[in-house]
Amino acid sequence: MDKKLRSFMIYAFLLILVIGAFAVLFSYVYRFFTIDIYNRILTILIILSVVIMVAVALAMLSIFAAVKSRKVNALMFVPVRLGLKLVMPFALFVTDILKRDKDMIRSLFIDINNLFVQAGDIRKSPEKIMLLLPHCLQNSECTHKVTGNINNCRKCGRCCIGDILRMVEETGVKAIIVTGGTAARKVIAGENPEMVLSVACERDLAIGISDVSRIPVLGVLNQRPNGPCINTTVDVRLLREKLDSILLVPEIARKGKD
Ligand code: SF4
Repeated sequence: MDKKLRSFMIYAFLLILVIGAFAVLFSYVYRFFTIDIYNRILTILIILSVVIMVAVALAMLSIFAAVKSRKVNALMFVPVRLGLKLVMPFALFVTDILKRDKDMIRSLFIDINNLFVQAGDIRKSPEKIMLLLPHCLQNSECTHKVTGNINNCRKCGRCCIGDILRMVEETGVKAIIVTGGTAARKVIAGENPEMVLSVACERDLAIGISDVSRIPVLGVLNQRPNGPCINTTVDVRLLREKLDSILLVPEIARKGKD
């Protein structure tokens, strides 16, 4: 049998087994449970619902306060994290069903993640910081292969890669241009940085931040004057500000501003 068809059949069979197990469980409940046990189960479910409602309300308030005050304090850590893990996926699910703009929710997710990251001990020496860039920042007519090696850029000024390379040379951080999310994950796994400063669109950044949860990722959104994935750009001054905020050595952080 075809390999793909065989794996589909295995998953379908597993699903039948799981549904069958539930059918057996419900039959058991129907046969042996008394009205008193039903009432207890309902009481537990009611309490659980109230606890979840209170937790989500706390997460909502904490995220609101964090965005308004532009900082996450120690008391907000747990509810903000809960909001990122629980409320954001739900909000994305609902916007998907309603066919609304998901990038707004993703952008908020990235903003809150950045506040969350900046609330911790984030200053690192340059060699521990990785600057991750999407290849769509490069001018599409450029013939120099900067993917994988940004030093091949000739700083001709036709795209922002040249300015970013200057920033990289000044600060000593490692910068890598990648072709997509899979390549980004591979590079992070191979280099094992302690902090990632990443440029990407809302979708790629939100997915990347969720995927690389063990390493703090500070996100900067790209700009797309020519539509998605071609000749995109980034506010290099904003990128420099973000980099300065995570560099351990103040002289390096100041150098670019002098
Ligand atoms: S700045 Fe660098 S990457 Fe951009 S077009 Fe010029 S040589 Fe190519």
